Amino acid sequence: MAELSDVITFLGTAGARFVVTRQFLASGGAWLSLGDTQILLDPGPGSLVQATKRKLDPTKLEAIILSHRHLDHSGDINIMVEAMTDGGTKKRGMVFVPADALNQEPVIFSYLQSYPQNIQVLTEGGSYMINDVSLKTPIRHKHPVETYGFIFRTPRHTFSWIIDTKYFEDLASHYEGDLLVINVVRLNPGAPIDHLSLPEAKNIIEELRPRVAILTHFGMTMWRAKPWELATRLTEETGISVTAARDGMKFDLAQLE
Ligand SMILES: [Zn+2]
Repeated sequence: MAELSDVITFLGTAGARFVVTRQFLASGGAWLSLGDTQILLDPGPGSLVQATKRKLDPTKLEAIILSHRHLDHSGDINIMVEAMTDGGTKKRGMVFVPADALNQEPVIFSYLQSYPQNIQVLTEGGSYMINDVSLKTPIRHKHPVETYGFIFRTPRHTFSWIIDTKYFEDLASHYEGDLLVINVVRLNPGAPIDHLSLPEAKNIIEELRPRVAILTHFGMTMWRAKPWELATRLTEETGISVTAARDGMKFDLAQLE
């Protein structure tokens, strides 16, 4: 039997409106292949195209997780629910979303809501299981809509993904793991302040001290400043290995050992 691995594939690295709508970088979220469990995180615009292009089969998905309802995270969620359920012919898979993604203006069409095995509502301090993978949503982020970041724990690794948020004092203390993935939209702090900037990401990395940190979800100012150069600089400044995600990049968590 082949040894099980945990691999993250970045379907896209674009964040916020301009980089997404102009597709300077791809969008579409991330595909987490955690042992035998396939999970799709934040299927933004292009998720279906990027996944199939990389030979990732949506009918194998166990779960689709949505951190928040903003379009750059949720744009392809309907088609991915349809793809996971093989066009609605197989009742399978789980969907995890904040409550406000299902409210008055649901981001998942009502006729699709019966396709998956179940839809679970994410809450602050929540803990969920997807096969042998545990998922935690330790704290509600400061963002215009209900938003959560995640701690994933597999039988082999623990990693955190800090999704969009305004920076706040004890943000880092809620997360843990050998790997930290962090959405860094802005190069410098300032308006719109509901996203993390590079200096804030640096503070979080220094506080959390993971073995590896991966920056992603780049807005215009980050993209223009060449994220891979910024990552090299952060590595020098923090002594922690910092990488900038690239569209299609695969990160095997075995690299952490
Ligand atoms: Zn957002």
